[in-house]
Amino acid sequence: MSERIFLDSAGSSLPPEPVLDEVIGHLRREAQIGGYRAAQERAEDLEKGYDVVAELLGCRPDEVAFTDSATRSWLTAFDAVPLKAGDRILVTEVEYAGNAVPLLRRADETGAVIEVVPSDHSGQVDLEALGQLLDERVKLVSIVHVPTNSGLINPAKQIADKAHEVGALVLLDACQSAGQLDLRDTGADMLSFTGRKWLRGPRGTGALMVRNEVRERLHPRLVDMHSAAWVAPNEIELRDDARVFELWESSVADRLGLIAAVRYALDRGLGRIEAEIAERATRLRDGLSAIDGVEVRDIGVRKSGLVTFTVDGLGASEVKRRLYDAGVTVSTSDFNSTLFDMTKRGIDEVVRASPHYFVTEDQIDEAVDEVSRSVR
Ligand SMILES: *Cc1c(COP(=O)(O)O)cnc(C)c1O
Repeated sequence: MSERIFLDSAGSSLPPEPVLDEVIGHLRREAQIGGYRAAQERAEDLEKGYDVVAELLGCRPDEVAFTDSATRSWLTAFDAVPLKAGDRILVTEVEYAGNAVPLLRRADETGAVIEVVPSDHSGQVDLEALGQLLDERVKLVSIVHVPTNSGLINPAKQIADKAHEVGALVLLDACQSAGQLDLRDTGADMLSFTGRKWLRGPRGTGALMVRNEVRERLHPRLVDMHSAAWVAPNEIELRDDARVFELWESSVADRLGLIAAVRYALDRGLGRIEAEIAERATRLRDGLSAIDGVEVRDIGVRKSGLVTFTVDGLGASEVKRRLYDAGVTVSTSDFNSTLFDMTKRGIDEVVRASPHYFVTEDQIDEAVDEVSRSVR
């Protein structure tokens, strides 16, 4: 474990030993017998990986696809949503840049319209405003569960239930909630997450859930010979499970690492993890709030493990640099990542500190002291 005080699990966390063992072990095995043979040896474990992710998400194994990032998951699902001129897409104020870019691109191409659902005074999605915006022309509601730039937790289930009343598809970005919150009852039709953040998996890993009930409403376009079979010169047959969203090639070592990471989280217990993170985040928030010149920027009713703040007269990047020199790893989030929200709140950049369960109370207190010193 790191000697440093590591407060960046919302960026790229520290993988535990079982994850390292899987990844490195498999790479070594590939060097001994070749990648195909090495994958074959682990075929059963790779297959079991779908059950493991299904347990995390409260879905069926055939509703799970492995990918190489949350963005890939999101893109491939979004690309399969049929859209035409006049269709409406609703997004939250904390929409992530990685989703906003393809949304805008697709809107431009199809003539579909993107509309932002306002947040209420607390900062979470305004459910009443959402109700007023919804009608049959809304084809997709894109929800960011936990944004990249504040402690908010959006009420995913309540949003999804409302969206379903008009028959809209619900795509949930669970990138910052996977490994932190229970995802078994989000109401989402499609859900994307990454390996490297709260799940403590390897970089370059992610997964997608697509509910069987909505799969035939989708039109997957980015398909290869794994997602479909070439059965006659002019004919292909698409797979009839979520793996239609996968490609043939992948890093087997990393996928085994992700499966190990999900298993590791399930063994510890998502309920326990959520409580442990909340405890640390609250301690950090309280400590930071008490410092003169520091403003905690978290919004929402229920709060996550992302603690964001600004320091009077000191840029976020400078705070991050000073803290790093003092042995504390944090990161920053700038306005381009969540443009609607940051513009509305008039913030350029925040410092983001995200403590996982492996951070001790003493380390939290030390980090607060270091912020206090860096302000002076
Ligand atoms: C990090 C993040 C993503 C992207 O995850 P990748 O694995 O980098 O593709 C998407 N949404 C949110 C809210 C994020 O914080």
